[in-house]
Amino acid sequence: MAVKIGVVGSINLDLVASGAPLPAPGETVTGARFAQHPGGKGANQALAARRLGADVVMVGCVGDDTLAEPALAMLRAEAVDVSGVMFEVGVPTGVALIAVSPEGENQITVASGANAQVSERDAINLPMCDAVLCQLEVPIQAVIAAMAAEVERGLFAVNLAPAIEVPDSLLRLADLLIVNEIEAAFYGDALHAGKGLVALTLGGEGAVLYRAGVEVVRADAFDVAVVDTTGAGDTFCGALVLALAEGQGEADALRFASAAAALAVTKPGAQPSLPRREAVEILLAKG
Ligand code: ATP
Repeated sequence: MAVKIGVVGSINLDLVASGAPLPAPGETVTGARFAQHPGGKGANQALAARRLGADVVMVGCVGDDTLAEPALAMLRAEAVDVSGVMFEVGVPTGVALIAVSPEGENQITVASGANAQVSERDAINLPMCDAVLCQLEVPIQAVIAAMAAEVERGLFAVNLAPAIEVPDSLLRLADLLIVNEIEAAFYGDALHAGKGLVALTLGGEGAVLYRAGVEVVRADAFDVAVVDTTGAGDTFCGALVLALAEGQGEADALRFASAAAALAVTKPGAQPSLPRREAVEILLAKG
């Protein structure tokens, strides 16, 4: 039977203008191409876990505007349960305004909009799950409430992204903290003060699992043709939580997450590049 994963997190629409030089402050540039994609770390990680085989329930907030349905489109298309997503009246859906230069450099402005409305009540209303996964793009109170509800009954994981000040209790009580190198530097030793696992991702250098500051296992990155690393971190988070919730051992779970994340870098974009289970199994078998 599929494991059930709850995600409390952000849902955005990414509005991307690419192909024109990045504007300087006060400057207008023309000639860009426009595209829009569903995004937000919460939605991306929910979809990652779903594509890899979990039943996923998403809790979050969108606005009552025309951007809400496009932001939810891929979650709906893949049968993520979005019945816990609230449509907030008079509030805009969260957007990320992304400019990408011809050289691939980007500038991103996030307007979190309805994501700021995710409440403790929304988080507590999550049904019983094998694991709950949060990030820090929604109010910290909602994350703490999700933790209080989940730690006694299943795996509670937080991707500490973006790095912001959080209550010590979150770092001490979570079963799994997931960080990249920038976030690890921000939290420092406090990251290793708790009882849980800490997963540190190192981009093309792979990933490491620690417990109480001691390395448990390390996984090299899979050797793949890199197209666009967007979505690698979110895939890693969804995949690691899924694998641990399935009862995979720590080494196998880390390898599974690394394989899934490697596949995400072989395709452009975030949600469209999230891999399916079969592709991960094939890469794992190849080694
Ligand atoms: P993002 O760019 O999505 O925000 P992040 O900074 O959160 O990513 P990274 O450490 O860059 O996270 O990558 C997460 C995982 O993705 C790595 O631990 C690794 O397993 C995989 N990965 C990233 N880059 C590559 C790569 N070039 N080749 C293979 N695997 C990769």
